[in-house]
Formats: sequence, C-alpha cells, structure tokens
Amino acid sequence: VTCQELVEFLAAYLETDLGPAEAEEFERHMAMCEDCRNYVETYQKTVALEREAFEDPSATVPSGVPEDLITAILAARKQQG
Ligand SMILES: [Zn+2]
Repeated sequence: VTCQELVEFLAAYLETDLGPAEAEEFERHMAMCEDCRNYVETYQKTVALEREAFEDPSATVPSGVPEDLITAILAARKQQG
C-alpha cells in the first residue's frame, strides 16, 4: 500500500473492517514508514480527544494537535459517511 492508501483506509483498519490480508499490508507499510506510524498515532490521539470533547463540551483540543490534521480527518470521515 502507499501512504495515501493507508490514510484512506485507516479508519476501516482501526475498526478492523479490513480483511486479514489488507490488515497485514497495512502493518507491513507501517513497519517501514515512520510518517505513517506518526500519522496513525496522531490520528488515534485525535479520535480520543474528539471523544473527550464530545463527552465534555467544555474541554478544548490541546495545542500540539495540528489543525490541518484535524481538518483532514473530519473531511475523510464526512466522505465515509
Ligand atoms: Zn507511509
């Protein structure tokens, strides 16, 4: 898989919606690609933060999460419905 594909299918991967062969490709790519490892880590943190923010409306997203990334994640989610 490419970095682009990894990003596109990341949500499915994390929900374990991918087949075992695809999940293996993901893991192989992440083992080789530091960028994607960082991306996945940040993605998971962002999802956790979103969940917290949802549960506690007064919570704010801490600085350190790039706004571009959040925007990209929200856009990707919209596409997935
Ligand atoms: Zn990559």
